[in-house]
Amino acid sequence: MGVTAVVGANWGDEGKGKIVDALAPQADYVVRFQGGNNAGHTIINHYGKFVLHLLPSGVFNQDVVNVIGPGVALNMAALLEELEGLDAAGVPAPQLVISQRTQVLMPYHKLLDVYEEERLGAAQFGSTKSGIAPFYGDKYLKLGIQVGEIFDEDALRQRLERVLPRTNFLTREYYGKPEFSVDQLIEEIAPVAEKIRPMVKGTTRMLHQALKEGKEVLLEGQLGALRDPDHGIYPFSTSSSTLAGYGPIGAGVPAYEINRIVAVVKAYSSCVGAGPFVVDLTDARGDELRERGGDDGEYGATTGRPRRVGWFDAVATKYGCMVQGATEVSLTLLDVLGYLDEIPICTAYEIDGEITTEFPSVSELQRAKPIYEELPGWKEDISHVRSFGDLPANAQAYVKEIERLIEVPIKILSLGPKREDMALV
Ligand code: GDP
Repeated sequence: MGVTAVVGANWGDEGKGKIVDALAPQADYVVRFQGGNNAGHTIINHYGKFVLHLLPSGVFNQDVVNVIGPGVALNMAALLEELEGLDAAGVPAPQLVISQRTQVLMPYHKLLDVYEEERLGAAQFGSTKSGIAPFYGDKYLKLGIQVGEIFDEDALRQRLERVLPRTNFLTREYYGKPEFSVDQLIEEIAPVAEKIRPMVKGTTRMLHQALKEGKEVLLEGQLGALRDPDHGIYPFSTSSSTLAGYGPIGAGVPAYEINRIVAVVKAYSSCVGAGPFVVDLTDARGDELRERGGDDGEYGATTGRPRRVGWFDAVATKYGCMVQGATEVSLTLLDVLGYLDEIPICTAYEIDGEITTEFPSVSELQRAKPIYEELPGWKEDISHVRSFGDLPANAQAYVKEIERLIEVPIKILSLGPKREDMALV
């Protein structure tokens, strides 16, 4: 009973979508509480393979109410496209509600993101160019627009007239690009908004009421702990908090209701975009891990960009689990490592001649070098295994060593990309 949060403990792409899809049948509500359509959650189930960007991963369960919480960046057109994609693949229409407080990601947010990465050139952050940073920038500058406000054309016009002078100043003077016009934006937004309108509700009261009635709520995080703007590798972070602690705010549930925090942890490391990544494997071993990783190689689910990969980083993951407040871990992609004779684990960093197992500040992180221990591999396919005890002894030892290093119990193992490829520990 209560609220479970499923969140990433690494740099994102840990396989959260798969874990949420697997846990969703036990939930009444699945809520996205932060981020937008800038990352993809890959799900492979009996309907096929899907990459969800904005839709909560409970959409394959018709009894589940899926909620887009106030903390999300709502790209309305992208959401409708995703719903159409589900329909085209024969998935029955999901129950979906959007908080009236969720702010709308505007066409200018997306373009400002593109212009900024263009301007930064080689120094760019590796943004997915979905408009997320300009969106959250506007939100905290109080220049955002809540979805509940956009159905009244006069009110929307007034809001845009307030916002656009600043946006257009930036566009024109800083980026040398064409300005946005209120009329053009309204023309673009209005038809999309009409389709979204029936889904918009007061979800905070709905969720509070549901919890009073003993319903089960699952919060779905996007990206991972190391992308959190406060506790991650800022400025190579995202622009909204990726932590379970932000869940009650971004979803609209009481903080005291969260009683289970499932940190999803990857059995090796991957990091898309720029920023310090201590275990970066830049040689042929990295190329092989990238090709063998994920369900079809380690390439960004949204952008198709190759992800940087490396061995398991216990220093970063222990920290990621700590800042998530993890009560348990789901360890994913263990099957990928089945080709290796020896499997290195990064157990500590060396920084300026000092050895540490504590994740350092971002400036020190730039100078950190990985220290590895090696565990024997198991050299077999484990994707069919359904219980921890049936894993080869070396795979069991690898899981137990990770558990020892990160100091959080591992309760679920994901042993392949499909929904059923799982084992309880
Ligand atoms: P998310 O954003 O955390 O949901 O993760 P992504 O979907 O971006 O990336 C995870 C990738 O790993 C996807 O390609 C999944 O299909 C795949 N995947 C998830 N769990 C497993 C697993 O246990 N084994 C393998 N081989 N692939 C997995």
